[in-house]
Amino acid sequence: MIVKLNDILPAARKKGYAVGHFNTSNLEITQAIIKAAEELTSPVIVGVSEKAIIYAGLVTIAKTIRSLGQSSKIPVVLHLDHGRDFDIVRKCIDVGFTSVMIDGSYLPFKENLKLTKRVVKYAHKRNVSVEAEIGRLAGIEDGVESASGIYTDPEEAERFADEAHCDALAVAIGTSHGAYKFKGKPRLRIDILKEIAKRVKIPLVLHGASGVKSKWVNYANKYGAKIENVSGVPDHLIKEAIKNGISKINVDTDLRIAFTAGIREFLSKNPEEFDPRKILNHGRQMVIKTVRERILLFGSAGKGSY
Ligand SMILES: [Zn+2]
Repeated sequence: MIVKLNDILPAARKKGYAVGHFNTSNLEITQAIIKAAEELTSPVIVGVSEKAIIYAGLVTIAKTIRSLGQSSKIPVVLHLDHGRDFDIVRKCIDVGFTSVMIDGSYLPFKENLKLTKRVVKYAHKRNVSVEAEIGRLAGIEDGVESASGIYTDPEEAERFADEAHCDALAVAIGTSHGAYKFKGKPRLRIDILKEIAKRVKIPLVLHGASGVKSKWVNYANKYGAKIENVSGVPDHLIKEAIKNGISKINVDTDLRIAFTAGIREFLSKNPEEFDPRKILNHGRQMVIKTVRERILLFGSAGKGSY
């Protein structure tokens, strides 16, 4: 079934698990995300970035996800990832997104708050949930770029959440977008997160949280990829973040690596094959495996029956 973010996240915050947000831009990855969540009876958030919308077409990607979600027995959220202005948010809501992120974190506090409030007003009137962001992540995600991160200030986060009335808040505690997250030892500012969680009672969101596991990177590289010097967030830090108030975790890079690895393996083992269905299916199978691993780590398995 299709639900909104606010139908599933408060329970996660209350009970101490996190729901996975997985990015998609095509049919196969969407199918894989929902299939893995179904197998584990977990709620799931399917995320679409502005670049994914440019790639697939707004109506096409929205209808694809909605139709797969509606015929599923688990709760599926159709969520806009990193919407940058009111216009894109409005367009998404109008074609049936049940949740939107307005990322005004590139703006000064006051303007971010003003933009978020405008989005919340429009969205809530239409029964759509809103995720906002305060603080800056380093790295590059689809259409979002920042050279250096700025940790979220707990006091600002409290004021922001109180005034904006958003349903979830993304915070910056040391993760970054992409596959190159840490130069030295991976480290998250759990101390800052604890302080934020004390002050902000709505669900908190961790972006840039792929694991970039060497198991998957080596698998892709074995079949010809050259993915080097990458680093992700280790499992123990993810668990620590969930324990301290994170209830939504965004994953994109892990799915990209798995999809690529699967396709590479298939093509290299079956050079005579040119049926796109067989080729993409192998990528799809690997995405199912990755999503399953992430959901098990996040603790949301079994929480998707309503
Ligand atoms: Zn993000």
